[in-house]
Amino acid sequence: MPTFVLTDQCDGCRGQDKAACVYICPHDLMKLDKDASDSGWPQAFNQEPEQCWECYCCVKICPRQAIECRHYADIVPMGASVQPVRNTDSITWTIKFRNDRVKQFKFPIRTTPEGSIDPYGNKPKADMTKIGEPGYFTTGGAHKPGDVSELIRK
Ligand code: SF4
Ligand code: SF4
Repeated sequence: MPTFVLTDQCDGCRGQDKAACVYICPHDLMKLDKDASDSGWPQAFNQEPEQCWECYCCVKICPRQAIECRHYADIVPMGASVQPVRNTDSITWTIKFRNDRVKQFKFPIRTTPEGSIDPYGNKPKADMTKIGEPGYFTTGGAHKPGDVSELIRK
C-alpha cells in the first residue's frame, strides 16, 4: 500500500525550508526530484514503494494533499480510497467506497494549542554533552525514583 505523489498537486514545498514529506518519512523514502522535467520545480516521489510502511505520515503532513496511498486490492477494493486531511486541531478521514459512497470522520487530535507543548514536561533539559553516556537523560537530574503512592492503579 505504498504512497504515490499527485504530480499536478505537488509543488515541491516551494518557499519552505524542507520538503515536508522528505522531512517526516521515518523510513527515508520520500525524495525530491530536482529535475522534474515538466513542472519546472522539484517534485517528490516515493523512491522505494515496496519499503513503505503505510504509516501515512507523509500523507498527513503534505500541505497540498498531494500524496495518496495506493491500497492493496484485497483489502480496499479497486476504486476505493482512504484519505486524511490534517488540520491544526483535528483530522478528517474521507472513506470512499468503490460504489462511490463517501463517508467522512472527523476526530480531534489535540487537547492543547499547537506549539504549546513543553517537550521536557517540567523536567530539566537534557544535557547533550552527555549523550554518549548510558541513560544520559534519566540520570541527568530528570530521573526520580518511583513512588507507589503516585500509581493510578494500586
Ligand atoms: S509534502 Fe507534498 S507538496 Fe511538499 S514535496 Fe511532498 S508531496 Fe510535494
Ligand atoms: S507512508 Fe510512511 S513510510 Fe510510506 S512514504 Fe509515507 S512517511 Fe514514508
